[in-house]
Amino acid sequence: MLTKTITPTLDPFALAKTLSNNNLINGTLVKAKSGKTFPIINPATGEEIGVAAASEAADVDAAVKSAKKAQKEWAKMQPRDRGKLVAECGRLLNDHQEELGRLVALETGKALRTESRVEASVVADIFTFFGGLGGELKGETLPLKNDVLGMTIREPIGVVGAIIPWNVPMMLMGLKIAPALVAGNTVVVKSAEEAPLAVLRICEIVNQVLPPGVFNMLSGDGPECGGPLVAHPDVKKVTFTGSVETGKIIYRGAAEKLIPVTLELGGKSPMIIMGDADLDKAIGGAIAGMRFTRQGQSCTAASRIFVHESLHDKFVNALKAKVDAMKMGDPLDEKTDIGTIISPEQFKKVNKYIKIGEKTKGAKALACSAMPEGKKFKKGLFVRPVIFTGMTNKSKLAQEEIFGPVTCVIKFKTYEEALEQANDSVFGLAATIWTKDLKTALDAAHKLEAGFVQVNQNVVVSANLSYGGVKQSGLGKEASLESMLEHFTHKKTILINMG
Ligand code: NAD
Repeated sequence: MLTKTITPTLDPFALAKTLSNNNLINGTLVKAKSGKTFPIINPATGEEIGVAAASEAADVDAAVKSAKKAQKEWAKMQPRDRGKLVAECGRLLNDHQEELGRLVALETGKALRTESRVEASVVADIFTFFGGLGGELKGETLPLKNDVLGMTIREPIGVVGAIIPWNVPMMLMGLKIAPALVAGNTVVVKSAEEAPLAVLRICEIVNQVLPPGVFNMLSGDGPECGGPLVAHPDVKKVTFTGSVETGKIIYRGAAEKLIPVTLELGGKSPMIIMGDADLDKAIGGAIAGMRFTRQGQSCTAASRIFVHESLHDKFVNALKAKVDAMKMGDPLDEKTDIGTIISPEQFKKVNKYIKIGEKTKGAKALACSAMPEGKKFKKGLFVRPVIFTGMTNKSKLAQEEIFGPVTCVIKFKTYEEALEQANDSVFGLAATIWTKDLKTALDAAHKLEAGFVQVNQNVVVSANLSYGGVKQSGLGKEASLESMLEHFTHKKTILINMG
């Protein structure tokens, strides 16, 4: 039931100010106990749009206490009733799509039309999808001796700590909290420093229907706020999306307490374009897969494109022409295709890699699109998309995650050679193959070392598709019924001797 009514606010600047300096603990918006804040910057202009609460261990403790207290009653509810509340959150988020899209565009620099609106619709769908799965929290009966009844039941884990990044903050938060809540857990989320606003707005919205304490949110620095969250003795599971480096720190922290973790980490996803591929479709796939519209800030970015020698030059020219035609500019402008990089640190990192690429033996950089004009964008974090050709898969450019609008196109002669290079990476998140030959497609689908392989299409994330990497791209799965059952419940075995 709806206790309060929040109406959508379509001015993201005004909303950013109202949301400033808040955590959500026990259903109430509160400041950090220390009173400390940090600025939130519009990456398109460099202007401060608000401040976020700089939460520390004391705030983490308050949020975890509230989640622990709320979990007792929440877990007692019938799973389908919990699901109904989560689905109701989905309905409310649906009503706030435009507002959330604008807000996330403002704080992350992701273009509203091509990226941010899409994310806002996906997050509503995630809550709706998981909300319908309450009845699926069922166990099994086990065949044993006649007079022994064996069964399994699914129990919630307890308080879940969720740590999220900035690139798709709403979607990645939804994929963590919606299944966790339906499964009977309560949650404390730590938002990313760069993007605390849209997720906080989601808190306000879902707070209208969820009982206080079931869902808590803190903004803050990684080690200062995320560190104590992982270490807190009452946090019984950690679910994390972010970089490999931080993932390892979190894994070590969780190992100290021997609690389960889910890690969704980086990628360097290969795209193999065979000589018989439909070139136009493959070019469309490269643009979508590389997420140029998000300045390439995607974990599944098609950042290594292996193209058969017969198509290579045609592909590169056509790809460049298409990216050239994309308009880089104000993320909130409907005409904009490509927005900005998230932060000055990322901006420096991406430019460093472009310099490395320019110095790489044999590599040629093709800069695409055009920088936006106007005084307002002087401090904007815009980077022209770059297509590198002529380097090998062994180069730094092809081996390290850049997380920017930089892709490597690598020429190959044989399928075997392409496959071997595609798998020559520490990462294993996503991969695609483009061919008309079913046998090659199936062979690649089996042999590509990735959690997610697609044939003749590029990355589709949907609430009902199991998603997650192998190798250094992570541990465990997100999305789908499986993620709720396997990652947010304990399976308990019960035997009853009736003899
Ligand atoms: P990051 O690791 O720097 O930060 C992610 C989160 O971890 C932030 O909230 C940050 O504050 C927190 N954090 C940092 N240090 C911490 C610590 N010591 N203890 C606890 N928390 C800490 O990553 P990022 O730069 O925000 O995001 C980009 C990365 O995320 C890329 O590597 C990208 O590939 C990855 N990513 C993966 C997926 C996926 O599904 N596999 C999706 C999106 C992004």
